[in-house]
Amino acid sequence: MPASNGYWLAVSVIFGLTVGSFLNAVIYRLGQEPPLSLLEPKTSICPSCRHPLGAMDLVPVLSFLWLKGRCRYCKCSISWRYCGVELLTAALFGVMYLAGPGMAQPFTTISLQLYAATLVPVFFIDLATFTIPDSLNILLLVIPVALDVYGILNHLPGHALADGWLPLSVMGALVGALIFGAVRVAGWLWKRVEAMGLGDVLLARGMGAMLVCMAGVGHNPLWLFPSWVLLSCLSGIVVGPLLIWQRQRTALKHPPVTSPPPAQEETVADEETGGLTRELTDIAWCLVLGDLWHYVVSRVRKQPLSIVELPVEPWTPLPSAIPFGPFLVIGFFAALLWGGPLTTAYLHYALHR
Ligand SMILES: [Zn+2]
Repeated sequence: MPASNGYWLAVSVIFGLTVGSFLNAVIYRLGQEPPLSLLEPKTSICPSCRHPLGAMDLVPVLSFLWLKGRCRYCKCSISWRYCGVELLTAALFGVMYLAGPGMAQPFTTISLQLYAATLVPVFFIDLATFTIPDSLNILLLVIPVALDVYGILNHLPGHALADGWLPLSVMGALVGALIFGAVRVAGWLWKRVEAMGLGDVLLARGMGAMLVCMAGVGHNPLWLFPSWVLLSCLSGIVVGPLLIWQRQRTALKHPPVTSPPPAQEETVADEETGGLTRELTDIAWCLVLGDLWHYVVSRVRKQPLSIVELPVEPWTPLPSAIPFGPFLVIGFFAALLWGGPLTTAYLHYALHR
């Protein structure tokens, strides 16, 4: 590795640690119900004793180790997750530097790193709350489309217009949302259940746009899609049962104070008339950026932040339910790193059998 590469790799990792520290605040604040503002209060506070935290309490990883995983003021233990998120983000920044075009295309590399950083709170918030904040899903669409438009304007390799007018990333977003939107509709038609949350469809929309940007020169724009879909589902099949087992154990240890409504809570209101129409309208709403419109209007009117899927009644997921967002995130990174070689190997096998 040339010395300059090593230098920028180190810069990426250190920058990733700092971003990871900020992402801890994002996970905590956007994961609350209702979500808290990222802008106010400006300083972080200890979630246990509410004491404001100073710069010395917030040095990534080092503060955690120095304070032996306890709050300086109330001595209550701090979750390992804070340190883990910082290390994970630093690792992702390094890996994205190596996996992307590096300093040959700094704009692409930084976009890729910010994109990976945005997926970190999506992973943890969806795992804990079964929701993905709109603001994150919108960012996950805006980053790749902005990158693609920049690439088209600057004639960077791998960026082009489909049919001379449509940026390929927009087409990727449509295809991504349609694939997982179809799973949602199929789940409704088959068992009248919500097989895929609307937040997952929005997440797939943003990922579709990014995967098109990362398909690489000389490949079909959708080159990484098959491995993305397969690896997302595969990780869900492998890790899902473990997650359900762990959630059921927690539910047994800490039964909910109010008993959850009977099993039909997962079932989409079964209106024989209008049910399918409603499903299709929801998918169309994702495709025409209904969430972006909703978000902008609520920000302009200074309404409290709300999540698209905020149910009217308090909703407790069944212990047998799992969120799909984290598996989409795992599938995305796996496809980005190994999707190309995997698809090549599969095609080689299929053609030379
Ligand atoms: Zn404290």
